[in-house]
Amino acid sequence: ARETYSAARPNSAAIHAKARAVMPGGNTRTVLFYTPFPTAMTRGEGARLWDADGREYLDLCGEYTAGLFGHSETRILDAVKAAMDRGINLAAVGENEGRLAALICGRFPSVDQVRFTNSGTEANIMALAGARGFTGRTEVLAFRGGYHGGVFTFPVGTPVSPVNLPIPMRFADFNDPDGAARTIREAGEALAAVIVEPMQGSSGCIPATREFLQALREATRETGALLIFDEVMTSRHGFGGLQQRLGITPDMTTFGKYMAGGMSFGAFGGRAEVMAVFDGHRAGAMPHAGTFNNNVLSMAAGCVALGEIFDETAAEALYARGERLRDALNAACARHGVAMHFTGVGSMMTPHFRPGPVTAPYKASIEEEQMRELFFFDMLAAGMYLARRGMVALMLPVTDADCERFFAAVEEFCAARKPVLA
Ligand code: PMP
Repeated sequence: ARETYSAARPNSAAIHAKARAVMPGGNTRTVLFYTPFPTAMTRGEGARLWDADGREYLDLCGEYTAGLFGHSETRILDAVKAAMDRGINLAAVGENEGRLAALICGRFPSVDQVRFTNSGTEANIMALAGARGFTGRTEVLAFRGGYHGGVFTFPVGTPVSPVNLPIPMRFADFNDPDGAARTIREAGEALAAVIVEPMQGSSGCIPATREFLQALREATRETGALLIFDEVMTSRHGFGGLQQRLGITPDMTTFGKYMAGGMSFGAFGGRAEVMAVFDGHRAGAMPHAGTFNNNVLSMAAGCVALGEIFDETAAEALYARGERLRDALNAACARHGVAMHFTGVGSMMTPHFRPGPVTAPYKASIEEEQMRELFFFDMLAAGMYLARRGMVALMLPVTDADCERFFAAVEEFCAARKPVLA
């Protein structure tokens, strides 16, 4: 499969070879790196991509959820062009940031006030800083398998390197309510915050159970630690995010990805009382700076993305399309009798090469990794661009016909590769 892959992509190979001389690995996003070399894309339109060798793909990666609106949503392009016409970044506050903040505060139950960053990673860094400032405590609890940005990457079965860790952290198992509650109570007044993805994204689209999140909610309320939902990926799962769908309200929430229509973006928000630590009107306010925090392109695109396009109807339709696709895929896997199962919520899903249900993150076996690699390269050959780990994040321009094409490609994969019990 790899030989065919390489032979079909001489231009991608050349781009990689040149970049390697000046960038370690020829790359600047770990998630886009794979051997022998990643496919380079040169153009996108709607839910379609074209690579450097002229091959066309259906984009099911959806820029790791940031590409919700596709590559050429006119309303977003118009907003960005109009913002550019008024001048690039004016080193001043503008009207759009207040508009975008109001749109966010109006939809997420936990968010009275919000501030912007350049990325989800930064949003998490600032939320944790805010929680530490508010509580006057230092430690943070995160979960094995969690991903909150490059400096907060906690794969199962891999020791966390202190070199990589900017904050003193404790760890507990995802979806283990008793264990997590125990850890929170043991940490007591040392613990400033608990940070959790209501569906772990990077570790394989593994939804948190309501019982687990409820246990975190109760234990943090008891000890005074702040509960932070990292909804960088999951906020798309409903008008008010996954928190609203689950009916559990954290103290703080972090955002990123699609919310600025595909422009760079991050945000963190929460209860007014907590966010007040950043209020410049108050003596001793915590600093939160960042040259591009209110960059005019992200602010303008975000107002249109949330205010005009991704409304309640669009969010529910996308969620339902994803649920239908995942159900159909799992029914097909069962029919083929293969060790393959898709987990996820709404429009996001990841295949696991083991039978379902999969309720906790795990370290994949070599056989599972090989199957995952085969799946990725087989899908590429079939004209489907997925995340290297197999994750699918549907974009709004993906149609039912597109989903059917993907479904057919997965059925073909099941029949041809017959993934068996690892
Ligand atoms: N949190 C989660 C849950 C994420 O999935 C990601 C990105 N994949 C981040 C944080 C970091 O966001 P960014 O890449 O914008 O820094």
